[in-house]
Amino acid sequence: MALIVQKYGGTSVGSIEKIGKVADKVCALARSGDQVVVAVSAMSGETNRLIALAHEMSSKPHTREMDVIISTGEQVTIALLTMALLDRGCEARSYTGTQIKMLTDSVHGKARIREVQCDAMREDLNAGRVVVVAGFQGVDEHGNITTLGRGGSDTTAVAIAAALKADECQIYTDVDGVYTTDPRIEPKARKLDRITFEEMLEMASLGSKVLQIRSVEFAGKYNVPLRVLSSFEEGSGTLIALENDDVEQALISGIAFNRDEAQLTMTGVPDQPGVASKILGPITQANIEIDMIVQNISADGCTDFTFTVHRNDYATALELLQQTAGELGAKSAIGDDKIAKISVVGVGMRSHAGIANIMFQTLADENINIRMISTSEIKISVVIDEKYLELGVRSLHQAFGLDNDGQLSRIA
Ligand code: ASP
Ligand code: MG
Repeated sequence: MALIVQKYGGTSVGSIEKIGKVADKVCALARSGDQVVVAVSAMSGETNRLIALAHEMSSKPHTREMDVIISTGEQVTIALLTMALLDRGCEARSYTGTQIKMLTDSVHGKARIREVQCDAMREDLNAGRVVVVAGFQGVDEHGNITTLGRGGSDTTAVAIAAALKADECQIYTDVDGVYTTDPRIEPKARKLDRITFEEMLEMASLGSKVLQIRSVEFAGKYNVPLRVLSSFEEGSGTLIALENDDVEQALISGIAFNRDEAQLTMTGVPDQPGVASKILGPITQANIEIDMIVQNISADGCTDFTFTVHRNDYATALELLQQTAGELGAKSAIGDDKIAKISVVGVGMRSHAGIANIMFQTLADENINIRMISTSEIKISVVIDEKYLELGVRSLHQAFGLDNDGQLSRIA
């Protein structure tokens, strides 16, 4: 007997018929003898509808009331699913975040989970009942309803799985797993059977939007095996777990990319202590997040300083940079918002020195100029012109053997 936490996303519970199909699945699992907790999202489109409704009523909806309205979508789903389970003769009970006591901090709209109370869930499970929990919502210590941020039902499921020490947390969604890259860019992308928490975090933060990033962090921290599967197709999906010693590790697990960034450069900056913080201070004070940062060695006492920000923040960041350039007596502040970032990700690169070389040579063969490079233990990222994004992703996908049998097509 295993304890399984399942999460069904909005598209999986998007209609009465689909909720019926979910109920069939859950019933079958419960009848096989496993203990089952199900966390669900709102029916697809519902959260957006509720947000729009709030904005129709108020130009700046109060954050506490916003959480009261947007948490209702999930309450509808838990009731419908539980009715469907009961109609099938499967004992079940639904709970809101407040009823379970999914205790969070008080940051409305992006609350963090502090504690999950398990007593009621355990009692139901021991009595043979399926537990159905509303995703995305919690309650703070004062009894206010909170929500966990868009996509937060993933995190609800992982938090419950961690608290109950479940054997596996299964995230049912509209894709059948995590891919080596986005199949819309490279049709030869393969579904991965397995990926580590660390790799998934790198892939997710770079735009593989399969899971809420926070849910992956949570799963890694508490070592909850996480499986992404399709609601609509059979298959074993992708398991996200710790590194597996028995399996020969591929060098590279995936190629991630991001076209949401813009690059800014200050040239001819006097190379003195405190300059970096003077350049970046006004940017961070404007609540603009900075991603990559590169500073050159100085020639003639002057240096160039380059960094990237989200493309939406480009105009503001450039304006601030131009101001600072004037104050510092730098030569110029320039930028480009037609850039893209490509990263190769894999825990296998820890023990292999040739990865960067393969990456750079592959891009060079395609005549793609690299504008910036950054590395971490399991990732190498480059910034290139946006117009070469597709070509870059496809050629790297091939060079690292992700197209076929995991063999390198180019040897370092
Ligand atoms: N319903 C919420 C949203 O759309 C939470 C979720 O689906 O995970 O963001
Ligand atoms: Mg989702």
